[in-house]
Amino acid sequence: MFDAISSEAVRLEIEMEPILGTERTQRLAELRATVRRYEDRYGELEGMIDLAKANAAMVSRQRRYEQLAQEQERIRRQMESMTSEVRRIECWLEFCLEDVIARARDNHAEGWSPTPVLGYRLWAVGRDALHGVKMPWPGRSLAATCLSNGDGGELPHSDGRCGRLGCGIYAAKTVDPLYTEFDVSTIGDVALGLVALTGKVVEHDAGYRGAEATVVALGASLERHLLLTSEPRILDAVFEDPTVIKCEREVETEGQRLLEMETFVEREARRARPWTLGISSA
Ligand SMILES: [Zn+2]
Repeated sequence: MFDAISSEAVRLEIEMEPILGTERTQRLAELRATVRRYEDRYGELEGMIDLAKANAAMVSRQRRYEQLAQEQERIRRQMESMTSEVRRIECWLEFCLEDVIARARDNHAEGWSPTPVLGYRLWAVGRDALHGVKMPWPGRSLAATCLSNGDGGELPHSDGRCGRLGCGIYAAKTVDPLYTEFDVSTIGDVALGLVALTGKVVEHDAGYRGAEATVVALGASLERHLLLTSEPRILDAVFEDPTVIKCEREVETEGQRLLEMETFVEREARRARPWTLGISSA
């Protein structure tokens, strides 16, 4: 009775692929071949009952292992298909989010640009710093703050809570109004810069107010010297210590200095615009 079971178990085991192939697997196969040979030679052998039990234990574990492997493969395929579904839904979600934001901006006249918006600014140049209308600039980048109403809401405010003009870093669309509005001839030494506004940018007729601004090109005069640069390293240096302007050439008249500044920053703007404003000017 046991013989029948044992010989069946032995055959099964031999027919099955060794799953966890080790040196011992090879050794077992050799031993089995020897037992089979002895069975053929001598008939019934002793110890076959224990062998049958061990064999049965092995066979059941191998079957279970096969089942788990199949299950693992099934789960792997499910995860694969789930991953591609997630990728598709991500695209859909991105579209929906952008759509909601675009509609909100349209409906509430909210200006916001994914790419920098370029504009022009003036500073009064002192030996200590470049002074904006409200404050000296600590560096060539500045983040907007709102003095009138704390930090509530996204800056610059566009709901009128901080007055008609509102907070934010201002930049003009063209140079001319800056020169006339601020009466540059009375300021003394001035700097004219091209700034890139980022974050929330609110558009007005003549300019913009942005959440952050970074100067990308600058014409600056100090005691008849004129500096024209769009090099970040030099821009940083000028905002840190305006007296570096005095290392530059002298330009005789104020009118000539202003004209050169204007020509320079406008040329820099034309160079920068195809990659920035072209996308965001709508
Ligand atoms: Zn404000």
